[in-house]
Amino acid sequence: MKEKVEELYHLFESDLNAIETVRDLEDLKVKYLGRKGPIQSLMKDLRHCDNEERPLMGKLINELKEQVASKVETQLSALKEKELSKRLSEEKIDVTLPGRSNFHGGKHPIVQMLDEVLEILKEMGFSVQYTSEIESEYYNYGGLNYPPDHPARDMQDTFYISKDILLRSHTTSIQQHMMEKCEPPIRIVAPGKCYRNETITSRSHVFFYQVDALYIDKGVTFADLLATKEEFYSRIFNQKVELRVRPSYFPFVEPGMEVDIKCTSCKGKGCTLCKKTGWLEVCGAGMVHPEVLKEGGIDPEVYSGFAWGGGIERLFMLRHGVTDIRLFTENNLRFLRQFA
Ligand SMILES: [Zn+2]
Repeated sequence: MKEKVEELYHLFESDLNAIETVRDLEDLKVKYLGRKGPIQSLMKDLRHCDNEERPLMGKLINELKEQVASKVETQLSALKEKELSKRLSEEKIDVTLPGRSNFHGGKHPIVQMLDEVLEILKEMGFSVQYTSEIESEYYNYGGLNYPPDHPARDMQDTFYISKDILLRSHTTSIQQHMMEKCEPPIRIVAPGKCYRNETITSRSHVFFYQVDALYIDKGVTFADLLATKEEFYSRIFNQKVELRVRPSYFPFVEPGMEVDIKCTSCKGKGCTLCKKTGWLEVCGAGMVHPEVLKEGGIDPEVYSGFAWGGGIERLFMLRHGVTDIRLFTENNLRFLRQFA
């Protein structure tokens, strides 16, 4: 029996030496190690051995089996490597094949603008706060000193969901929420989508993005408001801007004003961007109305504050010379890709 084992091993070695491909080697593996192979039949022959010889022979056959398996594996990896390098050396790059293009997504222009605005305001010391787009009449109007008969409350301007629930028309709706939750100093900005029931034109839309700022502390002055605005717009337009304020009326501020900056394109000479006026309207602003502070439980004799709010679309349009607000919501890829 021992001779049989040795003979089989020699036979295997000579078979192995003749092998040239992975496929042939796999066939060889099955031939020797398979269930109907010679090693398995040697195992069966063990029962004819006498009891003394049997353990020794069993050990020999197992060793044979292990040797065959290990040689096959070694040869297999060598052959695989050889076949791979042969294939690689034969392969050529076809430079005439068209390339595969990658489709990259991009941030929407409004998201880009919003990210940049918030980054600057955070650096200036404001924290970013969010409120719901669905708001109660109180937070959107009543708590902000809007008289009950104020025209902005009219159905024409506001999307009412029920008598007291509406889609916020400005992110100023955050003010009373903040005053309820926090003690001064309060220094926050509130970004988000706002809704107004207006005719859609190149200049107005039924929804738009706004950022509102609120700063309440002891000794906050009008000069703080102007300095903050000047710094903010200088950074947005990447140049030192000149401010101009015009008196205006918003129920939640006193005094209230519109803030303009000298046209960044013509420097005040007059061009199409500024419609020949030399100035660009950028936001509404003012000192927080004492009634609004009182409503929020803050003593206007001790504290004062400023507030301002501006549209994100408008800011983007001024900076990039975009003339139609509808472009932001039409998903025209030729427009969007310019800013991707
Ligand atoms: Zn101009």
